Amino acid sequence: MSSTVPCPICKASLQLTPDGEFNSWVCPAGHGRAATLSELYERMQEDEIHRLWSLAKASWVASEPVTGRACPMCDRLMVTITVPTDVDEVDEGQPGDGADTGLETVDACVVDEVIWFEEGEIDEFPADLPDAQPTAAEDAALATIRRDFATSLDEATGTLPAPGEASGTEWPAPPVVAPAN
Ligand SMILES: [Zn+2]
Ligand SMILES: [Zn+2]
Repeated sequence: MSSTVPCPICKASLQLTPDGEFNSWVCPAGHGRAATLSELYERMQEDEIHRLWSLAKASWVASEPVTGRACPMCDRLMVTITVPTDVDEVDEGQPGDGADTGLETVDACVVDEVIWFEEGEIDEFPADLPDAQPTAAEDAALATIRRDFATSLDEATGTLPAPGEASGTEWPAPPVVAPAN
């Protein structure tokens, strides 16, 4: 995104705000947040993302909106769509897909692949599930692989972190947007 991304509601500059692995652009006045489609995979269930996006594209193809909020990136009017949600992460209509349990409304720009969530809307979506649900045997195998790998890594590099040194602050800082002029 460019360095200046205006809030669709108040036009204040949205601020890039990391939340764990999820980076979104938050209105300083609390109106909501914009997130790219790809970034949503850090936060939402895949089936809801797929459904959200297919509904947004279908709406856009059917007719470009003439009312609604402007996209923070291109100023086109965003489509407003209502996404059915459920607790599983199985695509709609596939084996294992459960009944819909909710409806959430969001705005989307299909051109920029940007989704606008009003304040709190993203938290209404069911929480993302772990990507894989390994069996106990797979878990055990993974633990062994990790342990062996860590051991060989330590042997190879001789860089066993001292106790207390391995803190989250050692991760690289997230990208920071240059202040708008
Ligand atoms: Zn705002
Ligand atoms: Zn746009």
